[in-house]
Amino acid sequence: MNITYSIIAPIYNELESLPELYRRVTTVMDDNGESWELVLVDDGSTDGSTEKILELAKQDDHVRAVIFARNFGHQIAITAGWDYARGRAIVIIDADLQDPPEIIPELAKKWKEGYEVVYAVRAEREGEAWFKKLTAAFFYRLIYLITDVKIPLDTGDCRLMDRKVVDVLKQMPERHRFPRGMSAWVGFRQVGVPYKRAARYGGVTKYPFKKMLKLALNAITSFSYFPLQVATFFGFASAGLAILAIPVVIYLRVAGIPQFTGQATTLIAVLFLGGVQLISLGILGEYIGRLYDEAKGRPLYIVRDKPHD
Ligand code: UDP
Ligand code: MG
Repeated sequence: MNITYSIIAPIYNELESLPELYRRVTTVMDDNGESWELVLVDDGSTDGSTEKILELAKQDDHVRAVIFARNFGHQIAITAGWDYARGRAIVIIDADLQDPPEIIPELAKKWKEGYEVVYAVRAEREGEAWFKKLTAAFFYRLIYLITDVKIPLDTGDCRLMDRKVVDVLKQMPERHRFPRGMSAWVGFRQVGVPYKRAARYGGVTKYPFKKMLKLALNAITSFSYFPLQVATFFGFASAGLAILAIPVVIYLRVAGIPQFTGQATTLIAVLFLGGVQLISLGILGEYIGRLYDEAKGRPLYIVRDKPHD
């Protein structure tokens, strides 16, 4: 089997966009002329997307269906796409057509120039709520600041990767994954291509605030120890403050200057330190929970149906 392009689209209740996604990918890829496949990963949809995907796969040999046993999340669906894709270049796009399939030839052009990772940079975002844009912008910058891998700003999961890169990514079994961080971490020759991120074609976002927060936590904990170091910093800072306070208090006492009367000061100090300790414990817990998940070594996803193999 000799396939040049594998296009992966993770799908969670995208019945409205699916036919249009299929139509536009088919048009673009047929125009392009080289062999291709569309890997549709159904992430536990409940709106009939599953049946639609199976139907498309039956009608057209270009379409490969992977049906999950339940919802495992966007990142895991992308991972399954990597596992099932057979092409020499692997492209990830959103099923809601926010990443227009028409950019695939542009990404491919850079790939042909010799770049192994070609990521799409959101130069403009259309039709998204200001809250989403603001939190996304903040998130990208925070991650950039505190993680060790320099994940390009304003870049989502939409990208083209060479087979070599995907083979490396497939060897990274981590559970709480952040695919765009992973693909930055591996190195290789990388380049960005700006594009205009469109509005959703149909349906609503599958990323409520809770999922965004989870993704942000995955990104931070997978690529940085910074939160753990913050606890150390606070420890040294408050211990240092205490040591400095000792001679001051002795001096004030000896000099007979009335000092620190009342409970307020004590109370504030106790509450502050108690708070810092609990937060540090929580941060530790966050990392330990993840360690525990990794230690269990459960499969990343469960496939219910894959009509092609
Ligand atoms: N998605 C998924 N599983 C999930 C949530 C989302 O496979 O649990 C898919 C979704 O169908 C879409 C892509 O991931 O193809 C991006 O999701 P969405 O467009 O809702 O995110 P947004 O663009 O609003 O950040
Ligand atoms: Mg979207």
